[in-house]
Amino acid sequence: MLAGKQEIPFTATEPYRFCPADGTKLKAKGGESRGAACPTCGRSWYRSSAPAVGAAIVEGDRVLVTVRGIEPEKGKMDLPGGFVEVGEHPRDALAREAREELGVEVEVEERPMLLAVHTYGADGEYVLAIGFRTRIVSGEPSPADDVAEIRWASREEVDALDFAWEHDRRIARQALGHG
Ligand SMILES: [Zn+2]
Repeated sequence: MLAGKQEIPFTATEPYRFCPADGTKLKAKGGESRGAACPTCGRSWYRSSAPAVGAAIVEGDRVLVTVRGIEPEKGKMDLPGGFVEVGEHPRDALAREAREELGVEVEVEERPMLLAVHTYGADGEYVLAIGFRTRIVSGEPSPADDVAEIRWASREEVDALDFAWEHDRRIARQALGHG
């Protein structure tokens, strides 16, 4: 949190109100909820779901699950992954997140297993989640970055865990061969 931050509403249903380039008051574009355009410089902003990737790392009949070390949903179960950076391919994003969060190199399957749309955090930001099946090719996973703990879970354990987002359970189940 920023010190002295003002409580100005900025939510999933409310786009930018002033142009980040020149400060002009923006006008709605394609409907209030879709985006905004600047009458001065002509730039426009569309509101889109933010792409994020999640990894089902499988070894034998178990899948690697993580305990979230940060908000939102701190303490709940998650899969390794995170937001895709600008210009980054989703599979490269997943390999990067596996390095940052677990210290391992992973091989990511060519095609995603599951797509899901969900909201994230207090502002209800929309996320497009892309789930891949992966396996570790080098390194021993240990929690780092925003991961507090890791566990290898069987299908029965996956069914019982308290996941932050339900689609992660579905990715984990599918990766173990159970839709
Ligand atoms: Zn402008």
